Amino acid sequence: GQDRRARQAGQVEKEGVFTGRHATNPFSGERIPIWVGNFVLMGYGTGAIMAVPAHDQRDFEFARKYGLPVRVVIQPDGQALDGATMPAAYEGPGKLVNSGPFDGLDSEEAIRRMTSHAETHGVGKGTVTYRLKDWLISRQRYWGTPIPVVYCEKDGVVGVPEKDLPVALPPDAPFTGEGGNPLEKVAAFVQARCPRCGGPARRETDTMDTFVDSSWYFYRYVSPHKSDGPFDEAAVRYWFPIDLYVGGIEHAILHLIYSRFWTKVMRDLGLVPFAEPVTRLFPQGMVHKGGEVMSKSRGNTVAPDDVVKEYGADTLRLYILSVAPPELHMEWSTENIAGSHRLVQRVWRFVDRHAGALAKEPRGPLPAELTEPARALHRKVHQTILKVTEEIEERFHLNNAVAAFHELTNEMGRLELDVIQGPGRAVWRETLETLVLLMSPFTPHVAEEMWQRLGHTESLVAQPWPVADAEAAREDAVELAVQVNGKVRGRIMVPREAAEAEIRRLALEEPKVREHLDGKQVLKAVVVPGRLVSLVVR
Ligand SMILES: [Zn+2]
Repeated sequence: GQDRRARQAGQVEKEGVFTGRHATNPFSGERIPIWVGNFVLMGYGTGAIMAVPAHDQRDFEFARKYGLPVRVVIQPDGQALDGATMPAAYEGPGKLVNSGPFDGLDSEEAIRRMTSHAETHGVGKGTVTYRLKDWLISRQRYWGTPIPVVYCEKDGVVGVPEKDLPVALPPDAPFTGEGGNPLEKVAAFVQARCPRCGGPARRETDTMDTFVDSSWYFYRYVSPHKSDGPFDEAAVRYWFPIDLYVGGIEHAILHLIYSRFWTKVMRDLGLVPFAEPVTRLFPQGMVHKGGEVMSKSRGNTVAPDDVVKEYGADTLRLYILSVAPPELHMEWSTENIAGSHRLVQRVWRFVDRHAGALAKEPRGPLPAELTEPARALHRKVHQTILKVTEEIEERFHLNNAVAAFHELTNEMGRLELDVIQGPGRAVWRETLETLVLLMSPFTPHVAEEMWQRLGHTESLVAQPWPVADAEAAREDAVELAVQVNGKVRGRIMVPREAAEAEIRRLALEEPKVREHLDGKQVLKAVVVPGRLVSLVVR
């Protein structure tokens, strides 16, 4: 009478009774006692198991309760487990012990070798056990895809012929709120003709579980106008499998399991040439407010419309993307939206101040010789392209991309006056246009507006993504830590191509480092290029 789910989850107290009988271990010839236990489930595998108390927690708890021997057969590296004293089962990998000819094997390899031994000696065979159960897809409700069968007194269950598909739901079903399936009350729907004998038949009123539809609807997306089949196989071959699925983790155990299962059936039927519908799953975090998940039932939701009214849709979007990496939950803060708004305004003002003049000037390549401020800004622009592109493509850490926008605009503020004079203006144009393009996925509306102000007549949607010039992005100088007897005492900036002797000289002259050298003798000075200088003194 115990709940099967609870037993499966190991949530019930383990109980058992000795049958008085023994079985022979086919590997060792030993006699082993046969017990009946409540935690061994008939529906899983054969319903009979060989208990391994030292290496399965449930078997372990059972063995301890009834004083059964716990024999270690897998020893983890660097440990010596003792079956009499171990406090819990060891379920990790290791080397086999107490296992006769299999002693010393890695446990993974031992599984293969023992399986093959059992097969060779005719005492067993390898098998895969699934915990998937049958899926009951019928539902007693209106909203769902009708199950296309009718019941004929003469012919029994008869499928609706393909030419009569789909079976459409009747638009006039009564929704009374009294329970039961409204379809049963629509006589014109229920009363049907048997496709085989033409006699009267009763139409099935159960509809399919909505998980049936969500298991494969995406295949239809690639050929929505196909009228003589569910999807175009060539289009499916071209577009699938899906590269990336972004969705709440709650989908991983229902919808995604069903759709994977469904796709495998389609693969077996030869409808698709792959076994998995999705290559990568990315579960996003939730929005929190006041330390709790934002939800209607908690009453702590923020209406996006109100934020849009005050700050605009671009700011709202930029704010949401800037708070946290998407896999983590984000804590909503209405005050912090102002920070995102300031970034949008700042970029807008940069464009506004210079767009008029820049739009009138002819476009051309950057001058070969740049002033130092222009070169610094040019470098920052290309570093920003690298950073933003990488954060979007590799990790989806859009918050870091937004941080890079802040950094670039800070640099623009610092260098603006120096750069816009003379030949540096071309760099200023490059900076503004690149920033607008990089921000366009984050703030699409205002980015489009700024793009046009910069003298473009074509939408920025048609523009290619900016490409970084890796050479331009390289720093001229690198920062090195200076260690004295293993402790970092200072940092120096050195030219990228500096010789070792020059680096040593700069390290020894660094004021904080000098304090630690006072009155001491430098025995050794090791330069690790790009990282540090290590001084050994006495
Ligand atoms: Zn019939």
